[in-house]
Formats: sequence, structure tokens, C-alpha cells
Amino acid sequence: MLREGTVKALVIGGGIAGPVTALALRKAGIESVVFEAYDTTADGVGGMLTVAPNGLAALQLAGLEPDFGEPLRHMVMADAKGRTLGRISGDPSRVVTRAELYQRLRELTVAQQIKVEYGKRLADVTNDENGVTATFSDGSKETGDVLIGADGIRSRVRAIIDPQAPQPEYVGLLGFGSYAENSGVHGDPETMYFVFGSSFLGYWEQPDGTVAWFNNLAVEHPDQESGNWLERLREAYGDDLPAKQLLAHSSEVVAAGPLEIMPSVPHWYRDRMVLVGDSAHAPSASSGQGASLAAESAIQLARCLRDIPDLPTAFATYEQLRRPRVERIAARAAKTNSDKRGMGPLTRLLMPLVMKTFGAKAFTKDQNYRIDWDAKVS
Ligand SMILES: Cc1cc2nc3c(=O)[nH]c(=O)nc-3n(C[C@H](O)[C@H](O)[C@H](O)COP(=O)(O)OP(=O)(O)OC[C@H]3O[C@@H](n4cnc5c(N)ncnc54)[C@H](O)[C@@H]3O)c2cc1C
Repeated sequence: MLREGTVKALVIGGGIAGPVTALALRKAGIESVVFEAYDTTADGVGGMLTVAPNGLAALQLAGLEPDFGEPLRHMVMADAKGRTLGRISGDPSRVVTRAELYQRLRELTVAQQIKVEYGKRLADVTNDENGVTATFSDGSKETGDVLIGADGIRSRVRAIIDPQAPQPEYVGLLGFGSYAENSGVHGDPETMYFVFGSSFLGYWEQPDGTVAWFNNLAVEHPDQESGNWLERLREAYGDDLPAKQLLAHSSEVVAAGPLEIMPSVPHWYRDRMVLVGDSAHAPSASSGQGASLAAESAIQLARCLRDIPDLPTAFATYEQLRRPRVERIAARAAKTNSDKRGMGPLTRLLMPLVMKTFGAKAFTKDQNYRIDWDAKVS
């Protein structure tokens, strides 16, 4: 049972799921402290994120207005000869740098006087009937009523809940990204283009005319291979449109990291500990839904803790609400990764039909998901 009176949650991880959980808990009348391993937030780290409409709605429930980054209303699928294969339009997503999103979430936690402690790396956890105690690598300890593992894809909390829990798996693709100037490639700034050619490439013309691009390259052993990635990408894409121009007009390339998927995590909670975000469900980056699903789970966890005083029941209800949805989206993204060359010739041929039938429909359904914050969880 949650303790009578004031309830205190220890939130491990100050990325996206952590601050959103803390903000939603505050709205639910539950106090929390966020512990982040690094000395500051990851400002300036990482590239761009697309937050889907469902994620924007979840963030809004935590108090973050969808006015960050730039709006994106359309997705166009094309081949490497410039032919359009499919198009999806819907409610706007927002493209934002990781730094801006973290900064906005940080401002909100500061405004709400939620304590965020930096430089606190969780090492271990002990539980008993009176509470849960987190021990950090600097030797300090903190006790609360519930401990929430929002500590990302390599979660320590997940390993404490279940030492046999699976680890993320590399899918054989290395992500890259950069910006091209004066490339002669243009597009509508409210459209993200996905090109399936020699390999996958996505691009987006920013309002200032610079084209941001990102792609995946099949790389067997990313930790052992290095070299001039820009040269390797130019070689891999050959005469593909518009990859050739974009790569020719980019002076550097940034390795965005290996694409990983998290196998299904069997245990999302134990005793007074529970997982939220990538620690429980990290779909491959190709889903474009990781941050959005993390925000949704944070909101649903806060609702369950608000409405169900018995911890095991609250955690079980939370898992029931979340697991089917997140695993369906993860499975679809894994399927996208399975063709490392981007898309087979038959799929390419059938793309317009695929998009018209289940592709666009499933995509839109995922994006239309909304949480009713006021509804009581039973
Ligand atoms: C290349 C790439 C592109 C992506 N693009 C998109 C996209 O376009 N759209 C999208 O929705 N998603 C995208 N994602 C996925 C998205 O980044 C994640 O799903 C999202 O960040 C998950 O949020 P989180 O808070 O659960 O985890 P994280 O953002 O990883 O945050 C976890 C936090 O916990 C901290 N931490 C870790 N261990 C400890 C510890 N022991 N103690 C204390 N703190 C700890 C970390 O320092 C970190 O700050 C992408 C991912 C990658 C790799």
C-alpha cells in the first residue's frame, strides 16, 4: 500500500520520461524528486527528434505546450529517382532538437519547484514494507514510497527489478545525420521526406533553407569500424536522388549512434519499483515514437498512482494499459528495420497500395491516441 499522507516518488532519470512523470505526479498530488546521473541535463547532446501528435498531447497533459520546434504536417515516401510512392498527412508533429525539448522540460520542473538532483547515478535499491531506498554511486541514499525507473534503454532499475531482463539489441544499422547548405534540394518545410533507395534517407528543409538529413547504413560491427563516414555514405548512395546532392553539400557527418531495439521486457515492476519510457519499451528509432510513448507512459503511470492506492494493483493496471500499445508499435518498427537496404523491390512497387490500406491507417491510429487525464482509472 502507498503510505498514508504525503507520498514521495523517487524518479530515476532526467531525460524525457523522468521529468514528464514528475510533472504528471505533481498534477496528481504526488511529490517526487528526480535523480539524473549526469551533472547537467543533456543540453546540446543529440540531434533532432520528431514528437508525434499523440506525444504532443501527452506532453501537454504534463504542462508543456506544443509550441517548441517546428510543425510537420506531411510525410512523403519516395524512391531514389524522385518518384513519390506514398503520402500521409495528419495532425502536426513537431521537429525539435533534443536540447530544446530537454530545456523546455527543465524549465517546467523548475517553475513547478520539482527538485531535480544532478550527478546522482543510481547504483542499488532496497525495499521493505515501509519504503524504498535508492543508493547512488556517490554513496548517498534517498528513501521514498515508490521508485520509478525512467533511466533509459540501459536501465539500472530494470536490472534491479529483474537481473535476467534482456538488454538492447543492435539491429545492424548505424544512424547518421547532418545539414546540407546550397544543395539545390528543396522541399516543403512542413513535410518530412523518406527516400528508399540504395539505403534509407530522410530529409527536411528547415525554414531557413538548410536541409537536415538523416540516414541508416548497414554496418556489421560499429564499435570496430571507423573511417571517413562521409566518404562511405557517398559511396553507398551513389547516384541516388537527392542523397547525392545532400552528401556532396555536407561538410561533416554526425554519427547519431547504433539503432537498437529493446526485446520485450518481461517484468515492468517489482515491490515498490516500476519502469517508464525506454527502460520498459524502447521501440527502434525508426518508429519515430520513442519519446512520444515515453511521455504517454509517464502520464498513464501517474494516473494509476493517483487512482489506485494499492501499489501492485496500480503497477499491474499501468502495465495492462500500456503493454499492448507499445509492443504493437515496436513490432512494426522492427519490421521496418528488417530490410536493411530500406525497402525491397516488391515492397517499393506495392508501396502506394500498402500506404493506402493498412500502413497509413495504422500510423494514423497510433497518432490519434489520446489519454483522458480526468477519467478515473479502475
Ligand atoms: C538516433 C535516435 C533517433 C531518435 N529519434 C526519435 C524521434 O524522432 N522521435 C521519437 O519519438 N523518439 C526518437 N528516438 C527515441 C527517443 O530518444 C527515446 O525514446 C526517448 O529519449 C526515451 O526517453 P526516456 O526518458 O525514457 O530515456 P532517455 O531520454 O534515454 O533518458 C534517460 C535518462 O536517465 C539517465 N540515467 C541513466 N542511467 C541512470 C542511473 N543509473 N541513474 C540516474 N540516471 C540515469 C540518463 O542520463 C538520461 O538522462 C530516437 C533515438 C535515437 C537513438
